[in-house]
Amino acid sequence: MPQKHAAPSDGSGRNDLQADCANCFGLCCVALPFARSADFAADKDAGKPCANLQLDFRCGIHTRLREKGYQGCTVFDCFGAGQKVSQVTFGGTDWRQAPESARPMFEVLPVMRQLHELLWYVTEALDLAPARPVHPDLRRALKRVDGLTRGDAASLMDLDVAALRDDVNALLLRTSDLVRAEVPGRKKNHRGAQLIGARLSGARLRGASLRGACLIGADLKKADLRMADLIGADLRGADLSGADLTGSIFLTQAQLNAAKGDSATKLPAALTRPAHW
Ligand code: SF4
Repeated sequence: MPQKHAAPSDGSGRNDLQADCANCFGLCCVALPFARSADFAADKDAGKPCANLQLDFRCGIHTRLREKGYQGCTVFDCFGAGQKVSQVTFGGTDWRQAPESARPMFEVLPVMRQLHELLWYVTEALDLAPARPVHPDLRRALKRVDGLTRGDAASLMDLDVAALRDDVNALLLRTSDLVRAEVPGRKKNHRGAQLIGARLSGARLRGASLRGACLIGADLKKADLRMADLIGADLRGADLSGADLTGSIFLTQAQLNAAKGDSATKLPAALTRPAHW
């Protein structure tokens, strides 16, 4: 779930891939379910508006989400899918005005989110100079995925997103290898590793692959994560205080928001320091 905001400019060409809640019909706050837990203060079924969603589709507690027990909302990122579904796929007519559109709108959202997430990664890869040999293929992938996002609701619901993800992931893996090859010496490979609560304080993880690694609650204080591949790594509750993430690739704002850190944590240029650090 988003903290309701207007999309900031990061100068990377990914502005359309950041949540612009002012142009979204609160889709994630309706379409997605959540369960009462440490992340959410109440239960909510899929398709049911959250009790905190206002009539103007803004969150009534967006500045107090953490203190109100809705931490889970602060670590969700739609990558701009919400405004694309609202304004492009459904042409700016919201689900209150046209209740018959509610169900398809909510079904399209998770598909669009995955497409926008792919666009985010591909756009980042196109900014990485060492990945130049892959850039022609990445540009083709960008055009293909962007075209798919502009299809109608029926075509989006029919998409084989898993196959598309596999195609794009092959390019992202080649990108990762080329970028990390710039780091001299042997690089650690923790791809998909279970590192829950791992003690990695001060670890030398420069250029490492942490793709899909489960780092929930890991101690990464002062770890060297420069140019590490962090795509899909689960950083919930991981402590990044004093860690150096300069040049790390495929890290998202939602991953950072889910982690702990401090003023000494060094971040990649496109990301911002979470307010709770
Ligand atoms: S508290 Fe409800 S309205 Fe606010 S961001 Fe979370 S889901 Fe949306």
